[in-house]
Amino acid sequence: MLLHFFETLNYSHVFLWVYTRVKRSLSFSLSLVSLLKGVIVTFIIISKRERSALLLWLCEDSDFDEEEEEEEEEEEMVLKAATSLLQALGNAARRAIPFFVSDDDDDAKIIDGKRIAADIRAEIKGEVERLKAKTGKVPGLAVVIVGERKDSQTYVRMKRKACDEVGIHSFHSELPETISEKELIDVVKGYNDNPDCHGILVQLPLPKHIDEEKVLGVISLEKDVDGFHPLNIGMLAMKGHEPLFMPCTPKGSIVLLERSGVELKGKNAVVVGRSNIVGMPASMMLNKKDCTVTVVHSRTKNPKEICRRADVVIAAAGSAKMIKGDWIKKGAAVIDVGTNSVEDKSKKSGYALVGDVDFNEAKKRASFITPVPGGVGPMTIAMLLQNCLDGGKRAIEGTK
Ligand code: NDP
Repeated sequence: MLLHFFETLNYSHVFLWVYTRVKRSLSFSLSLVSLLKGVIVTFIIISKRERSALLLWLCEDSDFDEEEEEEEEEEEMVLKAATSLLQALGNAARRAIPFFVSDDDDDAKIIDGKRIAADIRAEIKGEVERLKAKTGKVPGLAVVIVGERKDSQTYVRMKRKACDEVGIHSFHSELPETISEKELIDVVKGYNDNPDCHGILVQLPLPKHIDEEKVLGVISLEKDVDGFHPLNIGMLAMKGHEPLFMPCTPKGSIVLLERSGVELKGKNAVVVGRSNIVGMPASMMLNKKDCTVTVVHSRTKNPKEICRRADVVIAAAGSAKMIKGDWIKKGAAVIDVGTNSVEDKSKKSGYALVGDVDFNEAKKRASFITPVPGGVGPMTIAMLLQNCLDGGKRAIEGTK
C-alpha cells in the first residue's frame, strides 16, 4: 500500500510542497531580521547619553524608580530613548507584518491543469488498453490539415503525439493549400465511412476559398469529436438532451472545476465571451450543471459589476488581463481560458502568454484559479482524447 502511495505521488506535488515550506520559512526569517534590524538601528542612532541611560535602567534592579526619583534629567532621557526604541520596534513590526501575515494562505488554490490533464490521459490509456484486451480494437482519430501554417502543424503534431501516448490510432491527411472544397469534403466523407476511425478533426482555419461550415457540416455526428456540429450544439442547449460530444476547451474548463471540488449547483456563473467554440458552449454547459448563468460580451454594460457577483467565472474574451482583482468576488472560482501573447523583453522569445485575468491580483480574491499557461490549455487535448475514446467505445462496444 505504501509502495502504491509512492508510485502515485506526483513529483510536482512534492516540489510544490517543499517550495511552499521553504518560502514560508524564508518569510518568517525575513520578518525576524527586519524586526531585529529596526531595534539595532534605533539603538545606534539614539544619542550616546540616551543609550547609556537606557542601558543603566535596563541593568538596574526594580527599585530604580525610588532610587533615581530625584534625577529628573536622567529619567527624561530614559523615556526618550525608550520611546524611540518602541517607535522603531513599531515601524519594524509594521514592515514585518506582511511577512508574518503573508497572504499565501489566503491566496487561491492554483488549479494545476497539467496534472489534471495528465491524470485524465492516464485514465484514458487504461481504458484503451481494456478495450483492446476485450475487443482487439482501439479508437481511431483522423486529423485533417490543409496548407502549411506553422501553428496548425504544431497543434496537429501535438494531437498525434497525444494519441500515440494513450494508444489511440491516428490517421493523418496533410493536404495542399490549393485543394478544392469538393476534394476536401471527399476526404472527410472517406473517414466517415472508415469503421476504424471514430473521430474526425479538421484543423482550422481553412484556406479562404473553402467554406469551413460546409466542411465541418459533413463530419458524421457520431465522429464529431470537436463537438461543433450544429446537432451536438443543439442537444447541448436543449433540456432533457445530451450531445454525443461537447467542445473540448469549455468541457475541459468544467472538468477542471469539478475535479477541484467546486460545487456548481445553484451557483451564479459568469462567462466572459460568447464565441461558438468557447464562450457559448461553456455557458450552456454551466446551465446544464444547474448554475444561473450570465454571459458578458463586448457590448455588455458594467461587466465588472456583473463579474463581481459571480461564484464562478469562465473568462474567454481574448483580451490580456482585462479581468482585474476587484472584478472577482471573494472566494470565487476562476477559470481563465484566454491565451494572449504579450511583449516580454525578459523572455528569450520576446513575448509571454497571459490570460484574460490579471492572475496576481485575482488570486488574492479567488478560492480557485487556473494559471496561463498550465491551466485550461493542457485540458483541451485531454478532452479531445476523451471524446475520441467515448466515440470509439460507442462504436466498438455499443455503449451509450
Ligand atoms: P473570439 O475572439 O472568437 O471571441 C471572443 C469573445 O469575447 C467574443 O464573444 C467577444 O464579444 C468577447 N469579448 C472580446 N473582448 C471583450 C471585452 N473587452 N469584454 C467583454 N467581452 C469581450 O475568441 P475565442 O472564444 O476563440 O477565444 C477566447 C480566448 O480563449 C482567446 O484568448 C483564445 O486564444 C483562447 N482559447 C484558448 C484555448 C485553449 O485551449 N486554452 C482554446 C480556444 C481559445 P463579441 O461576441 O461581442 O464580439
